[in-house]
Amino acid sequence: MNSFELHNPTKILFGAGKVKQLAELIEPYGNRILFVYGEGSIKRTGLYDEVLVQLNGIEASVYELSGVEPNPKLSKVNEGIEICKQEKIDFILAVGGGSVIDTGKAIAAGALYNGNVWDFIEYRAVIRDALPVGAVLTLAATGSEMNSGAVITDWDRKLKRSMVSKWLFPKFSILDPKLTLTVSPEQTVNGIIDMMSHVFEQYFSKTTDTPLQERFAESLLLTIIENGEKVITDSKNYEARANLLLAGTYALNGTLSTGVVSDWSSHSIEHELSAYYDIAHGKGLAVIFPNWMKYVYLERVDRFVQYATRVWNIDPVGKSDEQIALEGIEATRTYFKRIGAPTTLRELGVGNEKFDLMTEAAVKFGPIGTFKKLNKADIRSILESSL
Ligand code: NAP
Ligand code: FE
Repeated sequence: MNSFELHNPTKILFGAGKVKQLAELIEPYGNRILFVYGEGSIKRTGLYDEVLVQLNGIEASVYELSGVEPNPKLSKVNEGIEICKQEKIDFILAVGGGSVIDTGKAIAAGALYNGNVWDFIEYRAVIRDALPVGAVLTLAATGSEMNSGAVITDWDRKLKRSMVSKWLFPKFSILDPKLTLTVSPEQTVNGIIDMMSHVFEQYFSKTTDTPLQERFAESLLLTIIENGEKVITDSKNYEARANLLLAGTYALNGTLSTGVVSDWSSHSIEHELSAYYDIAHGKGLAVIFPNWMKYVYLERVDRFVQYATRVWNIDPVGKSDEQIALEGIEATRTYFKRIGAPTTLRELGVGNEKFDLMTEAAVKFGPIGTFKKLNKADIRSILESSL
């Protein structure tokens, strides 16, 4: 195990009706609020009205930034930064899925910076301060509600990239499983794939002697697989939604990567797909991850054998390690397919036309990944096998 430091300052309020505590949570930060949300789901579910009741309770001056799209765009972030600067915003409240929370975080960093917020993404500047952000999460998927990252797309330049800083941890996040009961089957599946992928990125590691982290990861995967299946067949199952929601948060709140070198190359490859084709993050990952696994599994067959036997219950008797590992990878693909995720790029309308551009962009700052370092040719092979 490697040495590490862990400090996660996000306060989590988990459970039905926790939105009622919103006013008291925000009050210490001031009452000039930027209220960020997406394309309307919170109005349809009534959450928008509930939030306004809370904000009225502290006599807040509320500025709204609506219309945040999936694969949130830099232009929307800049719009929010403008409002913060002009209206002297005290606090950013993000109500929605990962796209809304990421937008809120990027605005928070940009609002206290006299330059282009993209500088933080391309390492031209370091985040040294940010406005406080709070979140009400409505979709189990990204973990953004309890982590220090934000993923933003510059649609004009076809770049989807992340910024990471301790300043980006939300001050609090409200996780009410009830708010996720209305998530569509398609978005539910995207979320399941994303959270499983977050676990994979940290579990398929070269770091050794990390039994606790490995079992954490396996338990998260088993919980996501079981409860994922339950919510697909019964979308209003509160307990299954609750388990999925908590698993999504733990999958990327720093716990799994303590003492472990994580990989993140499948995410980098997926970000190229979303940047060029605007496809949902979870769909891109569903296609890329099993193909990445097949490309790299010989780097550490033992970890893939452990994955196959502990997570998928593959019977090892009479089989070679390679065979067991491959059966585990196949079981992953089969599960993705069974819950309704795509398994090929063609299903997503993606051909090989932009592979040169995408592979070039993916290695802009050097080879990606740590489990196996991937250069342009490696990434191309993974993309070709994903067609
Ligand atoms: P999302 O893009 O935030 O939302 C997807 C869709 O779900 C939207 O159309 C949204 O509609 C709808 N939706 C959300 N909550 C709903 C509800 N309760 N009922 C009905 N519909 C609902 O999805 P996401 O998967 O959470 O976020 C994906 C983004 O996060 C990607 O850009 C991905 O790259 C990024 N990401 C970030 C991190 C991180 O750590 N920061 C990690 C992984 C991925 P409305 O717009 O109408 O609300
Ligand atoms: Fe992700």
